Amino acid sequence: MKLDSPIFHDADEARKHLEAQRWPNGPICPHCGNAHADRITAMKGKAHRPGLYNCMECREQFTVTVGTVFERSKIALNKWLLATFLMSSSKKGMSAHQMHRMLGVTYKTAWFMCHRIREAMKEDVASSGPLGGEGKVIEADETYWGRREDGYVSPARKGKPYLKRKKPMKNAIFGLVERGGKTRTVHVQHATRDAVREVLVTTADRKSTLYTDESNLYPITGQEFAKHDTVKHSAKEYVRGDVHSNTIENVFSVFKRGMVGVYQHCGENTPLSTETSAKRSATSATKQNVLVTYSASLTLNALNETSGFCTAT
Ligand SMILES: [Zn+2]
Repeated sequence: MKLDSPIFHDADEARKHLEAQRWPNGPICPHCGNAHADRITAMKGKAHRPGLYNCMECREQFTVTVGTVFERSKIALNKWLLATFLMSSSKKGMSAHQMHRMLGVTYKTAWFMCHRIREAMKEDVASSGPLGGEGKVIEADETYWGRREDGYVSPARKGKPYLKRKKPMKNAIFGLVERGGKTRTVHVQHATRDAVREVLVTTADRKSTLYTDESNLYPITGQEFAKHDTVKHSAKEYVRGDVHSNTIENVFSVFKRGMVGVYQHCGENTPLSTETSAKRSATSATKQNVLVTYSASLTLNALNETSGFCTAT
């Protein structure tokens, strides 16, 4: 897909593209599920807008956008596709202001579009199942973002603060990535063994191989996995054959570039760190929330190529 593709410049082409993506075997009525070609007619009259279908089973009318995030929008479909393409191909994110300038729509419209597209990117953690599996490799690591005013001191450290860096960082983010697959990042209150274990065992399949750095957060939980191996960063060991945590570090790198350059500010409950309800109920005890945007941006290419530009209905 390139920026000069006609689907980004012509509303009819955009609609045809979306129809081909969503209905490869002909239109399906979103109201009753009817897929018989002879029971669905295209409305071709002058009074009808292009792309309108009539279902002879339930006597309802529909277009390809029904049930997607583009439904009931006055914004031209080609602008919607362009916005989706720009958001999904900008790995460090794109601001609504940037979208407003590039699409020639108002800022308010651009903001609304960005939110709807993010909604479509959101992964349903509960139904998509755990990361990894037999024979698959998962990398786990933690990182920190933002200043914290009061340094957290674990009771076990008897008042001696453990600081990851010279300048204390506020938010602990725990990330997991399946090599060649999806990423999940979770904001944990404190990166402790228990918090990390809870995320690990609820998000990853324990039949997978786990690779981490030498942090003492992992050895005990690591035993629950099929295999656990570490690289020793303190001894300047970053890769040993297949064993490394570079993939997850790259994910954090992209996340941080986005936070510096595009998002700049991030509240714990902004759309950037939207808590999915499933995750919230699963982890409310430790007040974790899922930073969905970045996991979504990595899986969004799939949205681009396979499911078309639509949400599951
Ligand atoms: Zn119908």
